[in-house]
Order: sequence, then C-alpha cells, then structure tokens
Amino acid sequence: MTVPVRDDILIELGLTPTWRRRDAQHTLIATVAAEPPGHAFVPTMREPVPNASPDAFDQPRLPRIAALTWQDLAADVDACAGCGLCRTRNKSVPGVGDPRAQWFFVGEAPGAEEDARGEPFVGQAGRLLDNMLAALGLARDRNVYIANVLKCRPPNNRTPEPAEAEACRPYLERQIELARPRLIVALGKSAASLLLGTDATIASLRGRVHRYHGVPLIVTYHPAYLLRSLPDKAKAWEDLVLARRTVAATAEQVVASATPGV
Ligand code: URA
Repeated sequence: MTVPVRDDILIELGLTPTWRRRDAQHTLIATVAAEPPGHAFVPTMREPVPNASPDAFDQPRLPRIAALTWQDLAADVDACAGCGLCRTRNKSVPGVGDPRAQWFFVGEAPGAEEDARGEPFVGQAGRLLDNMLAALGLARDRNVYIANVLKCRPPNNRTPEPAEAEACRPYLERQIELARPRLIVALGKSAASLLLGTDATIASLRGRVHRYHGVPLIVTYHPAYLLRSLPDKAKAWEDLVLARRTVAATAEQVVASATPGV
C-alpha cells in the first residue's frame, strides 16, 4: 500500500491548490524570530455600543471582563450567559494560541466540530487556515492567536445575530488587549464588520491596512468561503502577503523607536 503524501491528502480534502512558501518567503521566519520582545500597540477598550442587549452591558460584567487575565478568561467565557447561545452549544470556544502572539486571527463562530472540541477552526475550514498559516511560516500555537467573534456555536451554523456579536465583543476586545498583537487578520464579514464597525463587503475592504484601536488590521476572505470559491484563494494569499509585510514594517518601527539616533 502506498502512503499518501501531503498533497494527496489536501487534494482529497478539496484544499487544493495548496499553499506553499517560496524560498524568499522563508525569511519571514527569521524576521519574526529576530524581532525584539515587546509589542508596538496597546489597544484600549471600547465604550459599550448603544442598542446592544442590556444583558451584555450590565456594569458588573463589563469591568469584570475588562480585567480578566488569560488564566481566567476561558472559565469566564464558559460561564457567560450574555446571550442565548450558551443554552444550545456544547462547549464554549474561547480561542487558541500563543497568548503574546504578534498575529491575531479572528473568525466568525464555532461550527459543529469546534463546538464538540472547544477549539476554534478544527474542521475543514480550520485545515485550510492551518495551511495558510504554514505558508506564512506560522502555526496556531506559535506567534499566532485564533479567536472568533462568537465563543458559542449558533444553531445550524447560522450567521451571528448583531446582539450576540455585541454581547461577545468584550471577550474579543479583552483577548486583543491581552495579546497586544502587531496585526489582526479579520477572516470574513462577521469579524470585519464587528472590528471595523462597517457593513462593507470583504471585496471592498481587502487589499489595504485598516486600524483597530491603532493596531493594523487586514481583512480577507473566510477560509470556509475559500473552500467554496477557489479562485479567491489567490486574493487571500495576496492579503496574507500584505499582512506579512505589515508585521515586518511594524517590527522595523519598533526597532527604530528603540534605537537611539534612528
Ligand atoms: N469558522 C469560524 O469562523 N470559526 C471557527 O472556529 C470554525 C469555523
């Protein structure tokens, strides 16, 4: 019996064309590894958004979430009843990765597999995301944090309701504040809309650098969409190349600001 090689498996999973680093792109690993400790941006907390569900913004809840440590965050998410999704989900899915990651990826909401395992992006879309990360020389537990707009699965994987996204927003904000990333990548419309406060399409938002509380933010297509629309994979790769350039530029700024006379 022949053992399938990686490409055979990806073809079988429908994840082709595969993501590959070109030789020149290997320098990213060195760039990231050479970056000094310390982070360039410190996002601040947002004010509660008007018209959000009152339950989500009662005063004890907000200051409590705003003060959470990484250690406490998962348990707080698990006990959350800020919207009705806690009644239908199995496991809450707070997030996964390096707590001081320079790259912070934001998806939409857990699906069935994530709901069963309590970890984001572990289904087919997650395999594509892992390939995209690998193409950048990254991995979900190395310099990357992955979270979702919603920490609980919406029934039948429906799109998050605005009130659910607002109820969950303080957790995502706290996660970004704790990680202090160099870059946020919004995967799909839900993440882009929540973080940028716009209803614009991904097509109109991608290809440039936005800011979220001063942190550079790049918008790209959601991996689940890319599984259905292979031609847009090339655009997503362009977005990731822009993301990589942005992280590298931020690293240079940090070095310059820490070097006397530069
Ligand atoms: N899609 C998402 O947006 N997040 C997940 O965790 C899984 C699929």
